[in-house]
Amino acid sequence: MANIEMKHPKNVEGRFFCTDPDDENGEGCIACNVCYNGAPDFFAEDEDGNAYVQKQPTTEDEIELCIEQLEACPVSSIGDKEDM
Ligand code: SF4
Repeated sequence: MANIEMKHPKNVEGRFFCTDPDDENGEGCIACNVCYNGAPDFFAEDEDGNAYVQKQPTTEDEIELCIEQLEACPVSSIGDKEDM
């Protein structure tokens, strides 16, 4: 599970977040491209290719799209505060 104490500093505040690459649980972002390619309106990459949430979803479809990225992340680096 994504460590809420290790959030990427560029995340916008809200329900979803990405964790920093040096997450002490070893579940930090590995810059695999999945989330920001799959949902580019909501996830973006920093200068190192690591992901952060740039916009929070509001509609049911948008939320579902973000949950799909969370489930697809290979290192559980995306967190959902409503599922913690
Ligand atoms: S899917 Fe996970 S590991 Fe891949 S870029 Fe997004 S947060 Fe990082």
